[in-house]
Amino acid sequence: MKYIGAHVSAAGGVQNAPLNAEAIGATAFALFTKNQRRWEAKPLAPAAIAAFRENLAAVGIAPEHVLPHDSYLINLGHPDPEGLAKSRDAFLDEMRRCEQLGLVMLNFHPGSHLRLISEEECLERVAASINWALERSRGVTAVIENTAGQGSNVGYRFEHLAAIIARVEDRSRVGVCLDTCHSLAAGYDLRSRAGCEAVFAEFDRVVGFSYLRGMHLNDAKAEFASKVDRHANLGQGRLGMEVFRYLMNDPRFDNIPLILETIDETKWAEEIRMLYALVEGS
Ligand SMILES: [Zn+2]
Ligand SMILES: [Zn+2]
Repeated sequence: MKYIGAHVSAAGGVQNAPLNAEAIGATAFALFTKNQRRWEAKPLAPAAIAAFRENLAAVGIAPEHVLPHDSYLINLGHPDPEGLAKSRDAFLDEMRRCEQLGLVMLNFHPGSHLRLISEEECLERVAASINWALERSRGVTAVIENTAGQGSNVGYRFEHLAAIIARVEDRSRVGVCLDTCHSLAAGYDLRSRAGCEAVFAEFDRVVGFSYLRGMHLNDAKAEFASKVDRHANLGQGRLGMEVFRYLMNDPRFDNIPLILETIDETKWAEEIRMLYALVEGS
């Protein structure tokens, strides 16, 4: 079974996110549990936590199919000690918010070296940050997203994800999320069926499907191997629809949240229907 949704708004409170997901016919969703452009956030109010749990149950979406995304400010591979400490504190706060909401994953971009340390050192810091946060939290899996490789972001090679995982002490609480747009921008050619077969075989060899906890389904505005992170609506970018047909018919992508982060949200309901229609024999 495929669980599909989008990164929905939590405006007015986290408790609104499940309702926004239901409104577009989603069976999964992503959300920010705080303002993603600010460091500071008030703790979640007990009433909001209770309402979130109640709404989630009411719309019939399982916590395993919710993939919260952390703030864009957080850099778990920060080269400077102050920036690193600030990022770790904010990340741990987000892990605890997920815990409070009864959620089991937190999705994040691994980090950036800011051209001050090597990629290797940055990846080591990311892993150390994950270990630090896992020691201080319970029940939430840290889900590393592959990146387009824009700027000084690490995580654009499957080897980067594997290098981080190799240094994580509790591997039962680390996973990955693959973004189709980021993959194409990073030089993984998902434009054809043969390309998908090769790329996912490589992913399985380097990282392993056992770590796959979610997917971000986005078409790409920027060119293949451009390292530019710009999402497009499905079928309206450089990626085309073949990859989505492939994903929808491959059981390795069953039972994990498949999340749209496409730019025009008025198309989400239609995109979800379109994806389900790609399932052969449906
Ligand atoms: Zn993404
Ligand atoms: Zn992106």
